[in-house]
Formats: sequence, C-alpha cells, structure tokens
Amino acid sequence: MFVSDILAHKGGLVFTVPPSATLSEITRQLSTRRIGAVLVIDRLDQVVGIVSERDLVHAVAVHGSAALGLVAAEVMTREVVSCDPDDPIERVMEIMTSGRFRHLPVVRNAELLGLISIGDVVRLRLEEATHETEALKAYIRSEEHTSELQSPMYRMPSSA
Ligand code: AMP
Repeated sequence: MFVSDILAHKGGLVFTVPPSATLSEITRQLSTRRIGAVLVIDRLDQVVGIVSERDLVHAVAVHGSAALGLVAAEVMTREVVSCDPDDPIERVMEIMTSGRFRHLPVVRNAELLGLISIGDVVRLRLEEATHETEALKAYIRSEEHTSELQSPMYRMPSSA
C-alpha cells in the first residue's frame, strides 16, 4: 500500500493558514475541523511551516494565555518534512516515528497534493490486516475442503 491509496480515500483537501494567523484562529480551526495540524503557506502558496496541536500546547506552557495572540510564524516548525504519493506506507511510518511527528504533507514536483496523519496510516494498515486475515481464512477453508475430498475416508454421496 502507498501514500496514494490514502489520498484516494481521503482526498487532497489541506487546511492552510497564512504566517500572520493567530494561535487563537488556528486553535478554532483545529477544533471545528477536527484536525491536528495546519500547514502555513505564504503568498506564493509555498509551504513555509506547520503548526500542530503540540506547538499550541508548548506555546501555552511558555506564554500562558498570551500565547493565543502569537502568530503562526512565531511558533511553526519551519523545516517541514514531506512524502511522495509513491512512498510505501512502511516508509511513512518510519519517517513519522523517527521524526516524532504525526503529520506529513504529500508533495510532488513542488505541488502540494494532500496531508496525511498517523490516524490515516493506522486506518489503512488495519484495513490491510483485515483483508489479509480474511484471505488467509478463505485459503485455509479451501485447503481443508480439498483435503477432505482427497481423503480415503471420503465417500462420494450415493446417487441412488
Ligand atoms: P505532531 O506530532 O504532528 O502533532 O507534531 C509534533 C511536532 O512536529 C510539532 O512541533 C510540529 O510542528 C512538528 N511537525 C509535525 N509534522 C511535521 C512535518 N511533517 N515536518 C516537520 N515537523 C513536523
């Protein structure tokens, strides 16, 4: 499975804010949209940072309620790591685990195609595991059926 499989399911909608957005505005967005992070983009639509729930918690821990008046540019992570639609899910899990973050923009040829979260990755892995289990069960059932038919104990039902 690949990043493109996640995008096919969830689409390419990405919520963004300008560097001047206040943490108060960002908090409202995260809450109403039920998301964990927003990308910060400049006037040329270039990604210049990311602000996640963790950055908000950190800002409040340091500045108290005054944090809500800070702007995205003051708290965002500037070195944003991204992935490619053709990256396998295992690669994305590695990147998130080693980078200790839960969000990854999907970028190809400098074009922003979407944003995936660790929740999306876990959902896809669960679906994959469920399909594998079902396929294995079906295989075992068919093997059992075949060996029953081949067993010397098996009697063809009488046609009479
Ligand atoms: P998260 O686990 O996504 O809530 O983010 C934890 C920290 O990593 C926060 O400081 C985020 O700004 C930062 N972060 C989140 N996603 C990325 C990313 N793709 N690249 C770089 N930093 C990130």
